[in-house]
Amino acid sequence: MRTLRTIADVREHVAGARRAGRSVGLVPTMGAFHAGHEALIRAAREACDEVVVSLFVNPTQFNEAADLDGYPRTEASDAAIAAELGADVLFAPPVAEIYPDGFATTIRVAGLSAVLEGVARGPEHFDGVCTVVCKLFNIVAPDVAFFGQKDAQQVVVIRRMVRDLDLPVRLHIVPTVREPDGLALSSRNARLNAAERERATALCQGLDAAQAIIAAGEPDPAPAEAAGRAAMRAAGVEPEYFALVDPDTLERVERIDGRVLVVVAARVGPARLIDNVLTDTRQVATRV
Ligand code: AMP
Repeated sequence: MRTLRTIADVREHVAGARRAGRSVGLVPTMGAFHAGHEALIRAAREACDEVVVSLFVNPTQFNEAADLDGYPRTEASDAAIAAELGADVLFAPPVAEIYPDGFATTIRVAGLSAVLEGVARGPEHFDGVCTVVCKLFNIVAPDVAFFGQKDAQQVVVIRRMVRDLDLPVRLHIVPTVREPDGLALSSRNARLNAAERERATALCQGLDAAQAIIAAGEPDPAPAEAAGRAAMRAAGVEPEYFALVDPDTLERVERIDGRVLVVVAARVGPARLIDNVLTDTRQVATRV
């Protein structure tokens, strides 16, 4: 695996792969790899000939300076993991390579960026995500890009950006990887002490409670939301939001019929955690 730092080097490498007729997969990350990232890299390795993993702690998507400053930076071990999993390139550019002096362009997916996480973190969070992801798509020009269902709103926002801007890339969404007790893996879990780590399962417990009510055929979203919130409070965690939304528009559903995305966010100790489950009343429900 080669570690590349410049846009020019990545373009040259990818052009060589393309000339050889190889398909290209991109896995955008901010590093501090855990089994969730590993699942994305494995999926890319299986689906594509050439696998590019990007590692860039994108400053423009952080709404809290302390969150950015405290973000784990473990490039050496990340590089070892990516190489072990068969990635061909680790693209780890310095900030000035992505945001040169005078950088002035922002991509905003209006509406979708302003709800849920956009309320808590400001719509600028997804502006930062979309702008850097669009740049990565332009730099790497992948056939397929791999994202985790864990960040469900990010998937919805990027899907819309790809559609609206006719970006020639296919999105491959990887199911959420969880700890044995159901907690979704996240680099922010490392900030939890033992008691907080235990309470953090409240999010998936809330999702399970809501899912049980959806699976029982209740058409009104309110009982599922109430059950989810109650399960979380019983586990000692106050949800910031807990909602049943449309998986494409992120609007709260008025009736449960077909695909529903159940989304939750909560602070547990020093960490703000998110989780979600996609259900489909026309199919067997699955927690991914
Ligand atoms: P990050 O480095 O946190 O920006 O995450 C990089 C990618 O990994 C994003 O597409 C995330 O959605 C995905 N990801 C993070 N945690 C998980 C998880 N537990 N399961 C699956 N994918 C994940």
